[in-house]
Amino acid sequence: MMIRSSTDNQLYIKRDDLYPAVLGGNKARKGELFFCDLRKKNADYVVTYGTSTSNHCRAIACLAAQEGIGCRIISPEESQCASYNQDVVILAGAEIVTCPILKVSETIERNLQELKAAGHNPYFIPGGGHGNIGTQAYVEAYQEILDYETHHNMHFDYIFFASGTGTTHAGLVCGKLANGVSDQEIIGISIARPNPRGKQVVLDSITQYCGKSVNPEEVNFLDDYILGGYGKGEMQILPVIRRELLNNGVPLDVTYTGKAFYGMEQYLIKHRIRNKRILFIHTGGTPLFFGDMERLK
Ligand SMILES: *Cc1c(COP(=O)(O)O)cnc(C)c1O
Repeated sequence: MMIRSSTDNQLYIKRDDLYPAVLGGNKARKGELFFCDLRKKNADYVVTYGTSTSNHCRAIACLAAQEGIGCRIISPEESQCASYNQDVVILAGAEIVTCPILKVSETIERNLQELKAAGHNPYFIPGGGHGNIGTQAYVEAYQEILDYETHHNMHFDYIFFASGTGTTHAGLVCGKLANGVSDQEIIGISIARPNPRGKQVVLDSITQYCGKSVNPEEVNFLDDYILGGYGKGEMQILPVIRRELLNNGVPLDVTYTGKAFYGMEQYLIKHRIRNKRILFIHTGGTPLFFGDMERLK
């Protein structure tokens, strides 16, 4: 839908934060596809990885509860802090196993072995829903964007969103390439990772999904708006979050969507982009919005 823009462009927003499963967001979209695969493999336990504030862990813990299977979350002890996502994970009955960040892979391996030894058939989901299945979720989302364009007889010149592990980004680019769309820029605003690594991870995900490498110019992974790293930059972002809540009734958060929205606006101003059709994909994280409330007030 179209929303009020503070730059001279037509701004649209895709509300994936309202994606109708397990409190929404891109992790719910990816998570549902992982659970389709889990069912095919007759798994009866899910194991995944994430921090205590993770949207991914919240989505997976809720999906596991709905499925009626066990859920074990490996979480770095360095990241432990209270969050609404963590509350939901606990409410959903997931087991949280903490370990030092350097011991994450071996802890995952050990837990999978333990579950197997206890007669379970565990299914592992990479952190953030990374991998081909996660990429597939955003190839499908890209198709929804194409359908919207066809239905409304219009075309988006730019697509912006928060890019973390790069799976969302990879899916959108694969969708664009598969449909032969050329006059459109897909721009991921990095929320933490710097280049060249950030961009390389997106390229690797695309290669893994498509089975062939693509022109690196297809991937526009902007690390100009990291603002000091993961979860940082509240000085710049909080005013944007307040304004968007009041202007458009859209909840953004400091870590992901608020940072991406801020980065998008800065980019449009810096490159003097005007009179274009811009799509912002709201990738979710509503519990984080409420978590930021004390800082917002
Ligand atoms: C995880 C997350 C992202 C980043 O998605 P990736 O596919 O990992 O790049 C963006 N926004 C929100 C709200 C997220 O939870």
